[in-house]
Order: sequence, then C-alpha cells, then structure tokens
Amino acid sequence: MSARDYLDKDFYAVLGVTKAASADEIKKAYRKLARQFHPDANAGDSKAEEKFKEISEAYDVLSDDAKRHEYDEMRQYGGAFGGAGQGGFGPGGATTVNLGDLFGDSNLGDMLGGMFGGAGGRSGGRRATKGEDLPASVTLSFRDAASGVTTSVQLRAEAVCKTCGGTGARPGTSPHTCASCGGSGQTVRQQGGFGFAEPCRACHGRGQVVDDPCTSCAGAGVTMQSRTVNVRIPAGVKDGATLRVRGKGAPGRGGGPAGDLLVTVHVSSHPVFGRKGSNLTLDVPITFVEAALGSTITVPTLDPDTVKVKIPAGTPSGRTFRVKGRGLPLKNKRGDLLVTVEVAVPQRVDGKARKALDEYAEATASDNPRSDLISLAERE
Ligand SMILES: [Zn+2]
Ligand SMILES: [Zn+2]
Repeated sequence: MSARDYLDKDFYAVLGVTKAASADEIKKAYRKLARQFHPDANAGDSKAEEKFKEISEAYDVLSDDAKRHEYDEMRQYGGAFGGAGQGGFGPGGATTVNLGDLFGDSNLGDMLGGMFGGAGGRSGGRRATKGEDLPASVTLSFRDAASGVTTSVQLRAEAVCKTCGGTGARPGTSPHTCASCGGSGQTVRQQGGFGFAEPCRACHGRGQVVDDPCTSCAGAGVTMQSRTVNVRIPAGVKDGATLRVRGKGAPGRGGGPAGDLLVTVHVSSHPVFGRKGSNLTLDVPITFVEAALGSTITVPTLDPDTVKVKIPAGTPSGRTFRVKGRGLPLKNKRGDLLVTVEVAVPQRVDGKARKALDEYAEATASDNPRSDLISLAERE
C-alpha cells in the first residue's frame, strides 16, 4: 500500500472505532460490520461488496500491530503535509496562499501544496504534532463512584526516553538535520505530472538524523515505561463513562504537546442499591401486615444515617416512595432515593400466627379478589 493510500483512508472511521480503540474493540467492530456487509448476505449488491472490501482492508491494517503503528505514524505526518500548502510557495516564502482554499478542494490543495512546497524548498521544519491519546480503565466501588474519589491508574506506555530526553541521540551527542530532506521530514515523489509529499525515508519523517543512537531507546526517543497517573473521579460518575486526563497520554513529536489519557470507568454493582440517573433505587421487603395496616419503616441510605419511610395503610406491593435529596450528587444537586416496597410472604406459618391467619381467612371469607375475573374473561 502506498503512502498516499494511507493518507487518504481513515481506517478507524471505516470500522467506526476511535484511534485509541483496543485490539478487542477493533475485532468486535470488524466482525459486526463484516457480518452485515458480507457478500453472501448481500448477493448482487455492489455497494455492500465495496463496503466489505473497505472493511477488510481497514481490518487488515488495524489488526496487525506493526501495520497499525506504521499507519498511525504515516497519518500523523500526513496531517503535517497538508500544512505545506501554506507559506511554501516559492523560494522567497513571501506569498502565503492556501491552495486548498484557492481550488476549493483540500485534496488538490494538499497535492499541489506538496508539490510546490517540496520543490520550492520550504524553509520551516517539521510541524509539532500532539501525542496519541491513550486508553486506560478503572473499576470503582458503587460508593466511590457515588461520592467521587481520587484514584490512580497504572499504565505501561510510550514515554519520553529518560536517557536521551527524547532526542534519540546518545547523551553528549546531538542529532543533525537530515540532508535528504533538509529537515522538513518529507520528500516529493513524482507521479503522473504531480508531486506527492511522503515521509522522508532517510530520517523516517523526523527531519533529524541520529548518528550515534541512544542505547536505551535505540534512537526512537521514546521507551515503554510504567507509570502511575492520578485521576480525580467526579461524584456521581456513571458506569461506562470516559474521563479525559489532559497531557497524560503519549508524548508529542517535534515539541508538540502530549496526548490525553482516556479513562473508562467501570462501576461495580452494589448488593442493595441500584441507580437510575441521579436517583438511587432500593427494594425493601415489608410484611403483609405493614402493607395492610400501614407502618413506618427504617431504610438505609448511602449516607451514614438511615431514613424513615411512612407506608400508608393499604399499600400494594411494588409501590415506590420517594425520599427527596438522598440520591446521587449530579451537577451540585442530589437526586432522590426511590424506595420500592415488596410484600414478603412467609415460607412457613406455625402456631399462633397460623391460628391468627386461619381466623383472618374466616373473617374475610366473603372478600374474593377474583370475583369478577371469570365473568370479565368470558366477555371478550
Ligand atoms: Zn533515548
Ligand atoms: Zn529526512
């Protein structure tokens, strides 16, 4: 695959995943789309066939670590090339025309920009690029998620090499400007009368050549390092939410800022409490007597104290009572505690209780809750 193909195609968009997607997420997205657009399932549909090819091509690259890395790098530099159209016109560099605007076609602008920029000898060095966003995840207890907490995330990822400080050169030496590309990091390939910018092969697009590479990073300027990042989890965070920690991702290139850390939050379930938006839910068993005669019951909350809930006489099983302001904090306001009562039926009734129930049955023998059932069922 040529560099141009790499630059033109957004394989992440094709699979509908983010740049930070894990191998698993990529595989899942691919399988889903492949099933949907598989030729067997879309006989004679040329659009589906085309789509299936695109999906397969994207997966071929993104499922292979080495290919994916190369693709990411290529696209990162490709982004920088687009800028070559600006200020790269002629040796003087006085005319600043964005050819993309001129032609109303950014691809053409990039193409011409690459041509003129490269041939005209652009003066500027590489453009600084922001580092990659890195994925991470934390698992929180229900209570910590409700109240908010500061937790730490352990990760192993690329970071600026501690030995060379990111230059890639052995300490005491320094990299020099690449002679092939004059430090721009790109060269121009001629094809069909047009010039295409592509990353310089001599310096791999870095614009700098290291003669005596740092032994810790083999000249890459970055090494895999374990580190700990503290993450402030806001109160009321939802399961599945993603928090962005700025500047804690992969290091930038060419003096660019570091990427961000994208932390996915998993919230463990609670043995007693559930959650509906900012409301806390709680199922509470009550006896038939409490439901029939009314009662005041004591229920737990997520706070250190308990609250009392008044159950009116004649409460049916499944009714929900609202305790204001005892839910989860969300945007400086607390939701409510929703208490749903369930009439508990005893598994065994003996002795005095048995006798009382028999008497109750006798006293209410004329109350048949099913009196209308059969006639109503027969009517329609
Ligand atoms: Zn190093
Ligand atoms: Zn070079």
